[in-house]
Amino acid sequence: MTQYIYEFGPKKTQGNATLKNLLGGKGANLAEMATLGLPVPPGFTISTECCNHYFDLDGRFPDSLEAKIALAMENIERQMKMKFGDKNNPLLVSCRSGARSSMPGMMETILNVGLCSSTIPGLVAKTGNEWFVYDAYRRLIMMYSDVVMEKAEQIKPQNGMGIRLNLEMMMNNLKNDKGYTNDTDISCEDMKGLCSRFKKKIHETLNIEFPDDPKEQLMGAIGAVFKSWNGRRAVSYRRIEHIPDNWGTAVNVQSMVFGNMGETSATGVAFSRDPATGDNKFYGEWLVNAQGEDVVAGTRTPNPLNNDTKNPQNRHLSSLEEAMPALYAQLFDIRNTLESHYRDMQDIEFTIQEGHLYILQCRVGKRTATAALNMAMDMFEQGMIDEKTMICRLDPKVLDDMLHPIVDPAAEKTAEKIAEGLPAGPGGAWGQIVFTSEDAVAWTKSDKHVILLREETNPEDIEGMRAACAILTARGGMTSHAALVARGWGKCCIVGAGAMKINAKTKELRVGAKIFHEGDFITLNGTRGIVYQGRLKMKDSLENPRFQKFMAIADSYRTMKVRANVDTPEDAKIALAFGAEGIGLFRTEHMFYGSDSGKPLFLLRKMILSKSKEERQVALDELFPFVKQEISNTLSVMDALPVTLRLLDPPLHEFVPQSQKNQQEIADALRIDLEEVLKRSALLKESNPMIGHRGVRLGITFPEITRMQVTAVFEACAELIQTGKNPLPEIMVPVTCNEKELAFTHKIVTDCHARTLAKYEIKTIPYLFGTMIEIPRAALIADKMAKYAQFFSFGTNDLTQMTFGFSRDDIGSFMNEYIDNAILTSDPFETLDQEAVGSLIEISVERGKKTRPDIKLGICGEHGGDPASVVFCHKAGLTYVSCSPYRIPIARLSAAQAAILN
Ligand code: PEP
Ligand code: MG
Repeated sequence: MTQYIYEFGPKKTQGNATLKNLLGGKGANLAEMATLGLPVPPGFTISTECCNHYFDLDGRFPDSLEAKIALAMENIERQMKMKFGDKNNPLLVSCRSGARSSMPGMMETILNVGLCSSTIPGLVAKTGNEWFVYDAYRRLIMMYSDVVMEKAEQIKPQNGMGIRLNLEMMMNNLKNDKGYTNDTDISCEDMKGLCSRFKKKIHETLNIEFPDDPKEQLMGAIGAVFKSWNGRRAVSYRRIEHIPDNWGTAVNVQSMVFGNMGETSATGVAFSRDPATGDNKFYGEWLVNAQGEDVVAGTRTPNPLNNDTKNPQNRHLSSLEEAMPALYAQLFDIRNTLESHYRDMQDIEFTIQEGHLYILQCRVGKRTATAALNMAMDMFEQGMIDEKTMICRLDPKVLDDMLHPIVDPAAEKTAEKIAEGLPAGPGGAWGQIVFTSEDAVAWTKSDKHVILLREETNPEDIEGMRAACAILTARGGMTSHAALVARGWGKCCIVGAGAMKINAKTKELRVGAKIFHEGDFITLNGTRGIVYQGRLKMKDSLENPRFQKFMAIADSYRTMKVRANVDTPEDAKIALAFGAEGIGLFRTEHMFYGSDSGKPLFLLRKMILSKSKEERQVALDELFPFVKQEISNTLSVMDALPVTLRLLDPPLHEFVPQSQKNQQEIADALRIDLEEVLKRSALLKESNPMIGHRGVRLGITFPEITRMQVTAVFEACAELIQTGKNPLPEIMVPVTCNEKELAFTHKIVTDCHARTLAKYEIKTIPYLFGTMIEIPRAALIADKMAKYAQFFSFGTNDLTQMTFGFSRDDIGSFMNEYIDNAILTSDPFETLDQEAVGSLIEISVERGKKTRPDIKLGICGEHGGDPASVVFCHKAGLTYVSCSPYRIPIARLSAAQAAILN
């Protein structure tokens, strides 16, 4: 029969720290601490398996669970020498949730279970402390009515005022009426009266009596803690953290110890090191005569644990070190025991009951990015952990926070949130809002800090996007144009903030009842996707020599190379500084977006709107020197490193001029009238441009375009070679689905190569020829594609788009519902869908290698900078990953961890 109950305590412990999945983090660590001989009050854990079984039974306990609980309770009773429900010597217990990974504050806890009319007098007599008993009782009433009687029963509070808020209001009114400052000032009589009035209010509001039977309280509390796994907060947290719904929570039932029994009792929370800086200093807060919730609730300013924890707010309050030195010394010893046992920073909850110290919980403590780095390095240097553990201690995702300026978390706490969207470009930024690209450029020129606000962006916004300090759009997904451009530039960006109504004409932004105008200040947290009103304080990014050292060690374990997706020499330099080992994707079309791109963009438009081959050739000839120069500049920066140059990809209509001024310019250049320009533009319009006339298809219909680009590459190389440089170009064909497309293009490439060798009279220009794999068909015929392709680069943006049939620019309108309804655990454009898109990659790798065993394999979709996806790429046997420059450190660390762990 399945074991659902695991006991822990000084006398008998059945679990240990390795049983996290079954006992949850809290239960597993309580068992481990009990075995270490630490003062843990006895109790038992009901497993996560039991929680899942409870849901399978539609909220009923499995048969015989009640009897097993009764046996386990007897065991606690024997150790505590008290009896649950006893009139004279009543045992009280707590019921706490605990999932396998910590979800702080997301699920429920009920304290003081077992207090009722029959046990109160006995406890009063035993403790001689009536105030304490009624304080404990009012806490039980508040927690129980909220968690068990309202939330677990899914009762919707009237006017949004839950029972707990009602009771809190009653308590505050009492404090105001009687002039009490703190809860501890409330007189015993008033506390008693409050308890009676609480119960009356509960009956009035919820139409049911507060339970007066200890067993009923206990079973109610256990069921409610299980149900809190499916509470709103917990579900939202799971979505954000990608925690599966079927993990379930354990319930820990434990003998109560009381921090609110007077001046020799206390409660507190401590971290074995400073969680904000990582300093090796014992850090924490405590309160005398209080229960745990008081420390975190913010109703009383907690005291500092010791001298190291004093700050301007708590400096005047006495530390535990000063007030109870012997207990502090005991706690400090426990801190050392736990750190050397777990070899990681621990978050510890403790209670002191009448001079006796108890430990109620320990878990790996949450920490900032900087603290994580410092702790890992310190522990390695102290010999507590080995090098591999040190490398795996830093979550690659937090590197984002270290490399970008961020919104000061303290400022964020009190800021007014106006909207939420997808966190497309990390870091934080404040600025004045502008509604057009032109305004963004103009305002920036006059030294203003601006945030460009657009419904969505198109290539014509690029100048404004470059100029603005941040970008905010109402539509678009994580790989929408705005998002990937912004990320590429390391720019803070939020896309798909659907609640915003933007009127670019009137330069007005409406969100609900709020209206903002051009020039109003807002702040973006691009790491979390939150938009705030006003200008918030920022914190500087970290230029940390320790970080450099850490990364150098990580690199020594890495087997995959890391390249960058960049398209300008400036960005190539940034990428090199972040540690790029080549360029994995140079999107040629981006040379027509950036600053100073007026002339080439004009020529490109002229080429696009040419009607005949001759007209087009004239435009291409004029365009050639620009393209060659741009490519040469980037190859020169990346000397001796591979540079994957992709042939022109996007649908041509994206470049068609929109403004009348630009249209007229083209008409004049082509010596045609405006009408004709409009007619030719209209001809380029497509119903589904993303699967239309783009990528290799352009080169099939207009081979002269390919010819111009490839000649530009080879001539740039020839000239660089003549100056002693060592360019290593890799010519990549996009959006292919048939090996004959490659054969067709390959012929042009070899021809241009031969012509360039002859023209420059040089023997060789080394290069590779390869293809993107971004259409499922191409993946499935990888063996044929590899006949021509010396390398594959997985374009997982399009491969995801085409595998799912989800438009990458339009997922904003439905992705949230997919995540909320657990149809998907994460946005597949952010984290690679290993099941299907991953299978296509694995198939391509296997089939490609069959034809060409030494084929080079890379990824250049946005997933190349996503930690989980990088781990997948390592396992799939890719040669390199390529991502935006600012994500290079993330990819480097993820690749190192993948090599260590696999
Ligand atoms: C891709 O599709 O993954 C890719 C890198 O190309 P793009 O994003 O330019 O379509
Ligand atoms: Mg693509």
